[in-house]
Amino acid sequence: MPGFEFFGDEERKEVNEVLETGILMRYGFDGPRKGIWKSKELETAVTQVFGCNHAQLTSSGTAALTTAMAALGIGVGDEVIMPSFTFVASFEAILSVGAVPVLVDIDETLTLDPAAVKAAITSKTKCVMPVHMCGSMADMDALQQICTEHHLILLEDACQSIGGTYKGKKLGTIGHAGTFSFDFVKTITCGEGGVVMTNDKDVYTKCDAYTDHGHDHLGVDRGADLHPFIGYNFRISELHAAVGLAQIKKLDTFLSIQRKNNKLLRSYLEQVPGISFRVVPDEDGDSCSFLSWMLPTEAGTKAAIESLKEAGVFAGNFYWYANNWHYITKWDHLKNAITLNRLHDAQAAALLALQTKSFAKSDAIMSRTVSTAISLLWTEEQIKEKGEKMLAAITKVL
Ligand SMILES: *Cc1c(COP(=O)(O)O)cnc(C)c1O
Repeated sequence: MPGFEFFGDEERKEVNEVLETGILMRYGFDGPRKGIWKSKELETAVTQVFGCNHAQLTSSGTAALTTAMAALGIGVGDEVIMPSFTFVASFEAILSVGAVPVLVDIDETLTLDPAAVKAAITSKTKCVMPVHMCGSMADMDALQQICTEHHLILLEDACQSIGGTYKGKKLGTIGHAGTFSFDFVKTITCGEGGVVMTNDKDVYTKCDAYTDHGHDHLGVDRGADLHPFIGYNFRISELHAAVGLAQIKKLDTFLSIQRKNNKLLRSYLEQVPGISFRVVPDEDGDSCSFLSWMLPTEAGTKAAIESLKEAGVFAGNFYWYANNWHYITKWDHLKNAITLNRLHDAQAAALLALQTKSFAKSDAIMSRTVSTAISLLWTEEQIKEKGEKMLAAITKVL
């Protein structure tokens, strides 16, 4: 999964070019920066590599989601439908713009269940936010159809599936807008960073200003910029963008190694009796950053995890059902509506209602799901050894 495994001379070279000018900020200082514009260069690279018209870098993936929602006009009075299995950033971003997160079940794709999305639509629904978890994708045709039918915004959180595709289109470029995270553990990293991608010029222009205190960036210098609306500071720095620029050039290499390693490990796990794998709506588009597998029962899955731990091969495997960051069962701060500042009444009520909401369908899937993170550094020998040990440890307890 992570680009940090391939950090080296290329990153150092890009960062050093910034250090030599001493201009660490992405805007202004036109003379002293001597033509070095790493953030702009990375934005251009993102549009070319992922095939979208516009890209706006941000300081994080969470900031990218917040920015996208603000630019899409999502705010107080609006509901955003999101999955029960995701990263905490999903509801953080929704709450930060004043909207209400509506959590719904996932299906065997480990992403939004289209039927659950349909059932959750109300007169307040403004946006559907699929999260392409663990390298693979949601059923985008079904979700797009629902959004078209109900006149809803489709915002893709593709933070975990950089380089994945759906029917030939890059994940994150299919909806009205999409986001990546470039945090330290993502497929390509800036250290910290994120991006909003869109084909809508108006949405892009708003993102551009929103991430820089509302600056319109039309003045002859920063002091002459106007502020058409209130923004924030979600800027990326030139140092971070420089790292990302080196990383994006290696993306194809990362993806081909990831896919090769994933397939080889899978060939061992496929031999476990009764095992199944997540449903991937477009198999060719899986970025393969994780291999997510399911056993027939929760008890069997828990026994397999213990057995993997005993065999010393559990490291790099994730049982999200019991994980504090990724699944509804452990989000007590969310379900108790604990924030530092006061939430809007409708937001607080919606969060407290999560205490009694059933996620039976998600539970039935997540309690049986383990995701194995795919390392870029594994040798073929290591994968074979890992695969044999995992196969033996799991089979032993079934
Ligand atoms: C990492 C991640 C984010 C947020 O990214 P940060 O850059 O860490 O803020 C959002 N959504 C998902 C699904 C993620 O995995």
